[in-house]
This record gives sequence, C-alpha cells and structure tokens, in this order.
Amino acid sequence: MNKVLISADHVITGPADRVITRGAVLVEGGSITAVGTAAELDTSVEPEVPRLACPGATLLPGLIDCHVHLAFDAGPDPLRAVAEADPGELATAMADRAEQMLAAGVTTVRDLGDRDALTVTLRDAIAAGTATGPRVLAATAPLTSHGGHCGFLGGEVTTDDEIRARIARNAEQGADLIKVMASGGALTPGGPRMWQPQFTRDQLRLIVDEAARYGLGVAAHAHGTDTIEHCVTAGVRTLEHCSWRTAEGIVYDPPTARRIVENDIAVCRCVSGDWRLFLEQMGPERAEAMAGVIRDMRKEGVRFIAGTDAGVPGARFGDYVGMLEFFSSLDFSHAEILDMATVHAAHALGLTDTGTIAPGMRADLIVVDGNPLESLDSLRAIRHVLTAGRPIGM
Ligand SMILES: [Zn+2]
Repeated sequence: MNKVLISADHVITGPADRVITRGAVLVEGGSITAVGTAAELDTSVEPEVPRLACPGATLLPGLIDCHVHLAFDAGPDPLRAVAEADPGELATAMADRAEQMLAAGVTTVRDLGDRDALTVTLRDAIAAGTATGPRVLAATAPLTSHGGHCGFLGGEVTTDDEIRARIARNAEQGADLIKVMASGGALTPGGPRMWQPQFTRDQLRLIVDEAARYGLGVAAHAHGTDTIEHCVTAGVRTLEHCSWRTAEGIVYDPPTARRIVENDIAVCRCVSGDWRLFLEQMGPERAEAMAGVIRDMRKEGVRFIAGTDAGVPGARFGDYVGMLEFFSSLDFSHAEILDMATVHAAHALGLTDTGTIAPGMRADLIVVDGNPLESLDSLRAIRHVLTAGRPIGM
C-alpha cells in the first residue's frame, strides 16, 4: 500500500482554530492513518516510508465547493451552450472543468444541476480513477416549474405525480441529492422573477418527503423571503443563495433565520470570484443591503458553506479563493472562512469522511505556501493536492 508522511510548518486539522505547529500527517492508500507533530511521526513511522517535507507551507483539508454547475461554461449564455452542445464535447468540457477545480485545491464538489445526468458519469469515472477530478456529488436535473428557472435542463414539473416521477428518475440515474428551484432565478428568459415562488409549501414538502424515500437530501435554490420560509418548513438540507428578496426589495426575516439555525440548515451564499464587479453593477445601496443580510444571518448564528456557482455567467472554474475573499470583505475571520470551505461544508453535504484531518478520514489534503489563517491568498499558491490519497501533479 502506498504510504507517505507529509510534514509542514502548520497542519490545520479542522476546525480551523486547531493547528499543529510543525505537524505531520501519515497517508496510507486513500486514508489518513496518523496525525501529530513532525517530530513524533518522524520517529514512529518506519524510515522506509517516503517523506514529503513542506517547509514554509501549511497542510489543510481539501476545499469543498458546495455549488457548481459543471455543465455550464461560465460564458454569457450557458443555456445555449448546454442546449446546443454535442454530448461528447460537453462531457469532455465537464471533465476539464473538474480537473481545473482539483488543481485549485477543491477536492469535493456538489453539482447542483446538469443535463442527462452527465455529472453522474463523470463522478463515476473520477471515483474509478479513469478521470482526474474532485469527488463529485451530483443533483442531476433540478426540479423546476414549467418554463421556470433552468427548465432547459429537463426537470420541469407541474403536478404532484410529475414531481414523484422526476425524483424517481433522478434517483434511478444515480443522483446523490435532489435540487429544487424553489424560487425564480436570473438565467432563464421569461421565467418567474427571483423573489417569486415556483412551488407551493405543500409541493416543497412533497419534494423533501419523496427525496427522503430514496435516502436523498434536498438543496433548495431560494431567493424569495416567503420561499425561504417554505423551504425551512419543508425540511430542506441546504438553502442556496438565500438572498431574502421580495417584490419590494430585500426583506430579512429574523424568526425564519432562527429556524434555519435550529434546524441545522446550511446556507450556501454563492458568490463568484468576480464579486467586486457584480457589486459595482448592483450599486452601493443594493450592495450594502445584500451585505447587511449576510451580517444579520451571521449574527443569528447561521452556518454558511462555501459555493461559487461556477459555470453560471462570470463564475469561472478555478477561482474558488476569490469567492472566499468576499466573506473576508464582510469581516468574517479567516478561520470562519476556512471552516465554511471544509468542516462545515462536509457536514452540510452529509460527508463524514472529509473536511477535517484525523485518522480514518479520506486523505483529501492540500499543501499551500504560507498560512491561509494569515492570508487567504496563500490558498492560491497550491503546492500539492491529494484526493483520496492520490497525488495530483506531485
Ligand atoms: Zn446554481
């Protein structure tokens, strides 16, 4: 079995306030088998085991992107790009994007909407070792209303029977979770507005219950304040965007936020690496309102998880750190931000074997120059990436 002992100036075992100075991690096959100081492990581990010493570097859990669309090209018209793409070319492009994300230190991605379950095929190829990329969790076609947000991906439903049939189909195609477009979005011409609900409260409950019959959780795209409340009542696992919109602008609802906390629902407040430009386009007033509700949620104790929405217009693959810097601009500490990207993300995704560094965990690890607890920018200086113990570009 392949073994390697990796040592670095700092090992962030996770949560991010747990750091071993001059630490080391023993990797055996796909798993972590020992964690400690470099001095201890250097003595206890057999001399014939290869050493990878990383002076001036930090070793931490691989990053997790909780919201991507591998089928989208990040160009101005993803709808056309997906609808017109040849399936073979699209599959190749998706594999390239996955590889790019892994090279940027992202060892797990949750894909929240594709066509023809293409992500499942890629997920299985990566798991089998015939393709290189992060571990993938796939939602396949998101449920949406007729003519609704991202209906072009094939998940349009109207009646309860159609809801049941779509969830059964996604499960049969190998989905790891169910995604519902609970409110409108910005991508689909003629669809409902972002604050408008696409499903009733009862339908959302049906979606959560049906998904649970297949052992699947639900991620809900929810911009509208009413929709967010309906999703919380229905029992979704994560809220995507969660921007508290109404016809009159942003209206934050503290009681709903408290229930988000009590019910352990994570909020994936997606932003692309290009958020500065996005805020400029929004104008100072709306940008401040948006920032204000994120601060309010944080004060309430809402658990945020990291997601880029990579693939939608302007959200490039491989610009994960740019997204993290948005939260830094809102005065989140670096430790909080690293937790969003690792331990909290893993918890929200229901993954118990990644997101921290401990014996028995998958060896999803990155080594970066410097120390990300001091500067997030150091996450751009990737030295090594291991996914389930497999080194990339070592
Ligand atoms: Zn999305």
